[in-house]
Amino acid sequence: MSKKPPKATITPADFAALYDGFTAPISRFDCGRKCAPLNGGSPVCCSTDNAVPVVHKVEFDLLKERTDLWSKFKPYDYATRQIVAELTPDCMAIHCKGARHCERDNRTIACRGFPFYPYLTRQKEFVGLGTYWVFEDRCWMMSNLEIVDKKFVQEFIATYEAMFVKDPSEFTTYVDFSASARRVYSRWKRQIPLLGREGELLIVEPGSGAIRRGRKKDFPKIAPFSSEKEYRAAVGEAGGEVPREGLRAA
Ligand code: SF4
Ligand code: SF4
Repeated sequence: MSKKPPKATITPADFAALYDGFTAPISRFDCGRKCAPLNGGSPVCCSTDNAVPVVHKVEFDLLKERTDLWSKFKPYDYATRQIVAELTPDCMAIHCKGARHCERDNRTIACRGFPFYPYLTRQKEFVGLGTYWVFEDRCWMMSNLEIVDKKFVQEFIATYEAMFVKDPSEFTTYVDFSASARRVYSRWKRQIPLLGREGELLIVEPGSGAIRRGRKKDFPKIAPFSSEKEYRAAVGEAGGEVPREGLRAA
């Protein structure tokens, strides 16, 4: 029988400290410029049509003290009811007032870390950052991992390591989530893209779990980010406006 993880001791003050240590932008480029034109003008990770932020209830306690930006998320269809139904008792779904009202210091850990999750091996080693694969056709950043800043990676790792100490159930959640990633990519017959702890590009063979250094060809860009033509067509279809520099990082 598997042992239950020890109880969480994390407090609102701990989350405040985690926020202070996780401020680095994902990259020097504003990636929202690339995905928002495909999504009615709002970055994909900032609209609950796409991504419902899930937080620890204690994190929401902190946010409530600091701002009125966030409120409890009310599910509106089958998919969102499922998300809420599957939450663990410690967690809840919330939503913010939208990208125009964003308060940088009051972003959740989930906002700060998107589109990444802590990837753990079968041996439960925290070896790097995996990507939330369901967003790969909407998140430009996931097709451009080489431009993620090292400082962001370092702060991401330090944040999750500190959180795992205070809340061992978070660790178990990502052990399980990483196992799901291996199953999904195995089924797809694809390799898992990772950013290693130093920001290096890594590849996981999902069947064996083996990890090696990645080469450029191991990280194909996902449609509609695979060519300028495809991107422009997708933005046109969504009724958006292509950024001046197009798909290129700028
Ligand atoms: S992380 Fe991805 S989804 Fe979020 S703003 Fe950047 S490109 Fe868009
Ligand atoms: S707080 Fe900011 S970063 Fe987070 S979902 Fe809202 S607009 Fe996006």
